[in-house]
Amino acid sequence: MKVLVINCGSSSLKYQLIDSETEQVLAKGLCERIGIDGRLTHTPAGKTKLVFNDPLPTHVDAVSSVLAKLTDPECGVIASLSEIGAVGHRIVHGGEKFAHSALLTDEAIAEVEKCSELAPLHNPANLIGIRACQKLMPGVPMVGVFDTAFHQTMPKKAFLYSIPYRYYEEYGIRRYGFHGTSHSYVSKRAAEILGKKPEELKTIVCHLGNGASLCAVEYGKSVDTSMGFTPLEGITMGTRSGGLDPAIVEFIAGKENKTAAEVLKILNKESGVQGISGVSSDFRDLEAAAKEGNDRAQTALDVFCYRVAKFIGYYTAAMNGVDVIVFTAGIGENDGIVRANVLSYLGFLGVTLDAEANKFRGEEKIISTPDSKVTCMVVPTNEELAIARETVEIVTGK
Ligand code: ADP
Repeated sequence: MKVLVINCGSSSLKYQLIDSETEQVLAKGLCERIGIDGRLTHTPAGKTKLVFNDPLPTHVDAVSSVLAKLTDPECGVIASLSEIGAVGHRIVHGGEKFAHSALLTDEAIAEVEKCSELAPLHNPANLIGIRACQKLMPGVPMVGVFDTAFHQTMPKKAFLYSIPYRYYEEYGIRRYGFHGTSHSYVSKRAAEILGKKPEELKTIVCHLGNGASLCAVEYGKSVDTSMGFTPLEGITMGTRSGGLDPAIVEFIAGKENKTAAEVLKILNKESGVQGISGVSSDFRDLEAAAKEGNDRAQTALDVFCYRVAKFIGYYTAAMNGVDVIVFTAGIGENDGIVRANVLSYLGFLGVTLDAEANKFRGEEKIISTPDSKVTCMVVPTNEELAIARETVEIVTGK
């Protein structure tokens, strides 16, 4: 089956058309500046990237342009839209309602709408993408794959905040976690590479991208993760602060005459390694600056790696042990310096790094020595493939 995977944001839409039998990407692309002036990049498999300046006044226009490119005689990869068997939509928040991916019936869509309160920047955009696809591809089954779903197995002791219980009951304030599709895919793939079943392993996945989170996966199930009610909690990120004393919000607001919302924007967009270094949120820039003697860039890197290591410590305690530590996403897959720095804290667990193996970038690789007590590895994430697989599973019931 050919599955169109859609990740729709407020002014952008990413897509991949995947053949689920061969698991090959047939074409992929990105619509940007939707509602502004529009820009579409489309890459058919094995060919160079094409750039189109289609005006994209609405998301329906964006989906319409994508479908036109996919079926275009020159740059297309399918003869007609009837070849698309299903559409898989990435949805950020499924609340407590969605512990698994779901067929997007009218009832399911109404439930996704109810979750918008929990993800006001993301779910409404995801819904716009779903509706645009429904309009242009009536009758094609649509599946929602949720960033939060994998973490619904977290026990109460891991997901509850220590605040009055009625806030959980009345407003759903609890830890939900994100990046679930990636944590699930990467933990399963790591087990597969090691010739084990996920049910046999205690795994810690470090999804280190611009947004970053760790997940404790005990015998195949998420038992804790570092992001919380929103993606702001947890480790230091590119521009997000990660966890901090909530009293700081009011303190900054008072000092700088700002509202809580303005301070939260700073914690989301101007903090993290960007905020500490004043250089960049990109680890390539930070490492270059640190090499040239920029102390704050080095400090930002140190804070980041220390936090990641600390969370590995938490999750080792949560699972009473760890068999596998996996690195993934932009930094986790590419940055051997960060991986080595993080693992340097873990000698007490019997972790020994294979420095030669750690030099590789962006490929599946075991980076610990054969006698290391914990297997450390890199597994590139592939959220689109995971969404396509889930979509086929839901649509075919297999
Ligand atoms: P997101 O999906 O959250 O936007 P990604 O997983 O694509 O993020 O990761 C992007 C980040 O990965 C960049 O900001 C950069 O810090 C880091 N990155 C990408 N390539 C490299 C590299 N070769 N070396 C070090 N860091 C890298």
